Amino acid sequence: MARYYVNLIALVNGDHEVHKEGCSHMPLTHNQKYLGNYLTCEEAIQEAQKWDSSALGCYYCSNTHHAKKRIF
Ligand SMILES: [Zn+2]
Repeated sequence: MARYYVNLIALVNGDHEVHKEGCSHMPLTHNQKYLGNYLTCEEAIQEAQKWDSSALGCYYCSNTHHAKKRIF
């Protein structure tokens, strides 16, 4: 299990990234929302999508389910 967070600030392409705790691309503490403990990033992303349908896995830590690369 790992703790997952979603970035409250959308990327320039409008996506909200979901990160696994410890990722080097985690958002700042005050810009992240804790999603919970999950076995896979897919579960965390599904939870995040209840909050914002544009949530996607981070390209670096949850790349199994990311749909787009960062564009910056
Ligand atoms: Zn990440």
